[in-house]
Amino acid sequence: MTEENENEVIRISETDQQFKYELSKISDIENLMLCMQCGTCTADCPVARFSGTYRPLKILRMALLGLKWDVLKADELWLCASCYTCTDRCPRGVEFASVLRVLRNLAVEEGYIPDGFKELVLNILDTGYAYEISESRMKKREAAGLPPLPGANSKKLARLAEIAVFLKQTKKVKGGK
Ligand code: SF4
Ligand code: SF4
Repeated sequence: MTEENENEVIRISETDQQFKYELSKISDIENLMLCMQCGTCTADCPVARFSGTYRPLKILRMALLGLKWDVLKADELWLCASCYTCTDRCPRGVEFASVLRVLRNLAVEEGYIPDGFKELVLNILDTGYAYEISESRMKKREAAGLPPLPGANSKKLARLAEIAVFLKQTKKVKGGK
């Protein structure tokens, strides 16, 4: 999803025309095909305002055109701050923030996850914190008379992660999402 490939020809034979129908079966985003490309989501998105490449409408358009793999591999998917401004302002009631969540989940299922996010998840599973808390910071807390930070129960965290995946798979088997 770079500026260089913006003018590339899209060959219908290379698209997945079922993708939009598959997405529209997922709860919360059933109406994504109602998008009328007004661009309000992009105009009001606080991330798009400061990013040269992040455009909510473009992501949605690509998904509707069937550019499934370009969308799932795009780093831009991970820029959304989940503020829901786009959802609140869409005149057609399209829940774009939820579309993004679904696309991210699909990307993870296919193994596309930026290294930075992988690291965050591994840190959480390992320590309970998104970022490693350094020894020097712990010492500063101690010097300031603050109590030590609680440690994580990594076994419970791993179990929670397993349950989350298990529940997702079970829902899929039942035909939901
Ligand atoms: S605001 Fe809604 S209708 Fe307008 S482009 Fe975004 S998703 Fe589509
Ligand atoms: S939820 Fe994401 S796409 Fe929507 S306005 Fe906020 S940052 Fe932008």
